[in-house]
Amino acid sequence: MKRFENKVALITGGSRGIGAAITKRLAAEGANVAFTYSKSREKAEAIVAEIKASGGWALAIEADSADPQAVENAVHKVVNEFGRIDVLVNNAGMYIGKAFEDHTLEDYDQIMGINVKAVYAASLAAANHFSAGGRIITIGSNMADNAANPETTLYTMSKSALTGFTKGLARDLGKKGITVNLVQPGPINTDMNPSDTDLADFLRSRMALSEYGTVEDVAGLVAFLASEEGKFITGTALTIDGGFNA
Ligand code: NDP
Repeated sequence: MKRFENKVALITGGSRGIGAAITKRLAAEGANVAFTYSKSREKAEAIVAEIKASGGWALAIEADSADPQAVENAVHKVVNEFGRIDVLVNNAGMYIGKAFEDHTLEDYDQIMGINVKAVYAASLAAANHFSAGGRIITIGSNMADNAANPETTLYTMSKSALTGFTKGLARDLGKKGITVNLVQPGPINTDMNPSDTDLADFLRSRMALSEYGTVEDVAGLVAFLASEEGKFITGTALTIDGGFNA
């Protein structure tokens, strides 16, 4: 029997990068997966087709994380379709990198809306539908503990907010047997952080392992936390960054 047989997982931002890898990993291990996307419809459809071709079940839901109502609707859609939700992975996120003096209040609303408010909205919509063994896993960033380079103030602030959210919510939902954790990746080769740039060379120079991680590395950790083996881990942040913050 596969680890996530009969389980239902929702991943936000599953059309590309880390979210796509998490979606595929949970589906490969038997979960019925739903994932949201915003712009990448074709990629989302390709992932659904790939999972179905290998005997799994997947549903792509168009839902812009900038719109909390759309996020809430996505959770309700999953519960209506499957009758349950066991794992919520808050992955969708965006990055703004520029000198602080060039920031605007609109930048604040945009990044906090997608990186923080959407996490709150999805978790709130899902909370009453989990039963014991439920899992909320949010993708933060190792930068929450180490703002290693300039021009990252807003992004770092948004990812730090997830620490407090995770700790508080772990206390609130622990009595129902639901775990809540934060996964904090370091440099992972995706569209958001390609491994072939000058910035990437700088980031590599700061890492104990001197290499970017892969989306599958993060998906493996998420799968562990979502599994039965992760049942005693809650209210914490697990950093997966090749020793960047060592
Ligand atoms: P990518 O930019 O490669 O992919 C982002 C994914 O999120 C896409 O599937 C995209 O979907 C989705 N997404 C983005 N904005 C929205 C939105 N408004 N509504 C719905 N979906 C959205 O990013 P990564 O895979 O690299 O990042 C995933 C998470 O990991 C983020 O939270 C990021 O902050 C975090 N992270 C990444 C690191 C890295 O080095 N890559 C390091 C630390 C943390 P679509 O294309 O359909 O809009």
